[in-house]
Amino acid sequence: MPEPGTVIERGQIRVESGRVTHAGAEVAARHPGEPVHEFPGCVLIPGLVNCHTHLELTALRGAGRGLPFAAWIQLVTREIAAHDREFWMESARQGARECLAGGVTSLADYSTHGVSSAAIAETGMRGVVFQECFFPDPRAGLAAMLEGLGRGVRSLEELAGEDVRVGVSCHAAYNAARPALKAVVQEFGDYPRSIHAAESPAEDRYIREGRGEIAEAHRERGIPVEARRMSPVEYLDNAAYWRPGTLAVHLTQASRGDFAILKARGVSAAFCPVSNAALGAGVAGIAAARRAGLTCGFGTDSAISSERLDMFEEMRFALLASRVRNDPLAPSDVFAMATAEGAAAAGIEGAGVLTPGARADAVAVRLPRPPADSTVVDRLVMQASSGDVRAVYVAGRLEVSQIP
Ligand SMILES: [Zn+2]
Repeated sequence: MPEPGTVIERGQIRVESGRVTHAGAEVAARHPGEPVHEFPGCVLIPGLVNCHTHLELTALRGAGRGLPFAAWIQLVTREIAAHDREFWMESARQGARECLAGGVTSLADYSTHGVSSAAIAETGMRGVVFQECFFPDPRAGLAAMLEGLGRGVRSLEELAGEDVRVGVSCHAAYNAARPALKAVVQEFGDYPRSIHAAESPAEDRYIREGRGEIAEAHRERGIPVEARRMSPVEYLDNAAYWRPGTLAVHLTQASRGDFAILKARGVSAAFCPVSNAALGAGVAGIAAARRAGLTCGFGTDSAISSERLDMFEEMRFALLASRVRNDPLAPSDVFAMATAEGAAAAGIEGAGVLTPGARADAVAVRLPRPPADSTVVDRLVMQASSGDVRAVYVAGRLEVSQIP
């Protein structure tokens, strides 16, 4: 499948200098004498695009399992302060290797410690790393926050290879008092931008009513809480945080009106269905977002919440969860989101396809023999898992091989 919507029987691609030169059915026959890699029983797909993860947090896999959302966020915040740079670097490397082995070759990562760009660059994967900042208390020192954000951005830039861009992300509306949103927009206006938005009912209640578990946690820390009488998406719109290309993550609580705002501002969406379910945060209206015209992708989120950095699981789970919502996605929608559409959402140019000219990021996935009424895309989404990945090529280099 060189791109979503195209299936070539006995398909082949030809690669030269890391790029696809041909994709079709008789490619090898027209180029005799060239080395051939064959994957019988497999489907060859573009490398998957993970639109939201936190590679540095991989070593905290499963921490706080079962906690309510606000308690979970507090636990993660404590853990983030408890380890040194080497710990986060090794953790990010572990996450990057896990993504690659599962067929991911591009990603949008979120960094707290300014090191994950190194782990991504080492694998040859490409993408964008957003340095996160936290500023829940409007009375705190804004200069210190901006200084920390700048330090993280510089660290990521120094460690990133040429295929990894660096962006910025206020963590979430409940952790970004208005002065912080404004300052980040002003001071880092040239950088790719993202934010976790409308992730949970707790966040929605905090922004609308100034009540609920996040509000209580903030009050305990002496942080002033204000009811905004609007949704998190509206609040961020009001603060002029949205602009074309901003990547909004989660959106489980987003309404049709919120999706219309995001569409009008040119914002893209990253959905993390497994993480959302694990945290009891809700089931996002992905089909509604796509009907509203948003460009959408999937992310695994961190291993803390999802416990697996497995894009096959995200595809399958998203499809099943959309049926639970009675607003079903098609397997072809889900596959597009995990490849070309996800690349467009995350602003990773040219990723998610294997058409001539594209970088040769290709994944061979073993599929069981088909029943007569099932398409390749149906089987890929409903039956395959990351354990079925047999080979991963990054820019034409074989990086992962599980050929028995
Ligand atoms: Zn996240």
